[in-house]
Amino acid sequence: MHAEYEDLDSLLEIQRIDLMVMQLKKQRIELPQRIQVMRLLKKREEIQAKLEQVVELNKKADHEMTLVEDEDRLLAEKQLRAQEFIDASGSDYRSVESHSKEMAGMVKRRETLAQKMVSIGEQLAKIKGVRDQLEGAVQVSIAEEARLRSEFESHDTALADQVKSLNAKRAELMAGLPKNLAELYEKTAARSGGVAVGKLQESTCGVCRSVIDGGRLIELRASAPLGTCPNCKRLLVIE
Ligand SMILES: [Zn+2]
Repeated sequence: MHAEYEDLDSLLEIQRIDLMVMQLKKQRIELPQRIQVMRLLKKREEIQAKLEQVVELNKKADHEMTLVEDEDRLLAEKQLRAQEFIDASGSDYRSVESHSKEMAGMVKRRETLAQKMVSIGEQLAKIKGVRDQLEGAVQVSIAEEARLRSEFESHDTALADQVKSLNAKRAELMAGLPKNLAELYEKTAARSGGVAVGKLQESTCGVCRSVIDGGRLIELRASAPLGTCPNCKRLLVIE
C-alpha cells in the first residue's frame, strides 16, 4: 500500500514507543516495594499477635500482684491491731496468747506473700523486656513501611511521568500520519497485542518470524513500501 517514507518512520517510532510504554507499565506493576510492603505487613501482624499475648500476660501478672499487695496491706493492718490488743491486754494472758498466735500466723503468711511479690516482680520484669522488644519491632516496621511507601511513590511517579511524555510524543506522531494509516495501525495493534508493525527481513516477517513463500512474497513485495504479513497479519515495512 502507498505510504510516505517519513510516515513509515513514524509508524516504527510509534511502535517503539508502544513497546516502551508496555514495558514501563509492567515495571510499575512489578515495583519491588509492593511485595516488600505486603511482606512487612504480614510480619508485623505476627509481631502484633505475639505482643497481644504478652500484654495479656502483663495484665494477669499485674492483677496477681495487686491481689498479693492488697492481702499484705490488710494483714499489716491486722497485725498492728493485734499488737495494740496485746499491748492493752496487760495481765490477761489468755488474750495475749490468742493474739500472739494470730500474730505468728500473720507473719508467716506475710513471708509467703513477700516471696510471691518477688517472684511476680521478676516475672513482670521479664514480660516488660519482651514487651519493649516487640513494641520496638512494631515501631521499626512502621518506619520501614513509610520508607518503602515513599520510595515506591517516587519510583512509580517517575515511571508514570515517562509514560506520560511518551504518550504525548505518540499523539504527536499519530496526528502527523494520514488518517487511514493511523487507524490501520491502531486496529492492528489492538488485534495483535501491542506489536503492530515490523520489517520484512529478506523473506521473513520481522515479528512472527514466519518465512513467506514465493507467490505470497512476490505479492507482498508488490505492495511496498507497506504490506501485511500473510501469517500474523501485522503491518510490514518493505524496504
Ligand atoms: Zn508475521
